[in-house]
Amino acid sequence: MAAATLAGVLGARWQWRHGVLEVHGGLVARWCGRLPPPCRFDAMTLGHVILGIDGACLEQARAHEHVHVRQYERWGPLFVPAYLACSAWQWARGAPAYRANPFEREAYRLAPLCHLPAADNGRMKME
Ligand SMILES: [Zn+2]
Repeated sequence: MAAATLAGVLGARWQWRHGVLEVHGGLVARWCGRLPPPCRFDAMTLGHVILGIDGACLEQARAHEHVHVRQYERWGPLFVPAYLACSAWQWARGAPAYRANPFEREAYRLAPLCHLPAADNGRMKME
């Protein structure tokens, strides 16, 4: 509930979907838009919270982001470090840090997104 209160303070909209808090708009959207292109995202999962630029992005990305929620449930607090380590490893070996990440490969296999972020205006989806 603290996250929902924070979303309200940020001027963002929020809703519960399948046990996950979805937050979009307000400062969340503005913050996403100001990130440098390699770090921009349409939607991002942080535990049981999904941040999105707007409701349409959340709608498109919901199934994919829920795969990341399940990954988070399996990995617990190690999820974010493991995700980042996998991206760093892929980048170090010359592979696409985002699309070659095994967490993303699983998420795309189970719930493909309509667009390919790595080739989409430099925008990328994380987690
Ligand atoms: Zn993903």
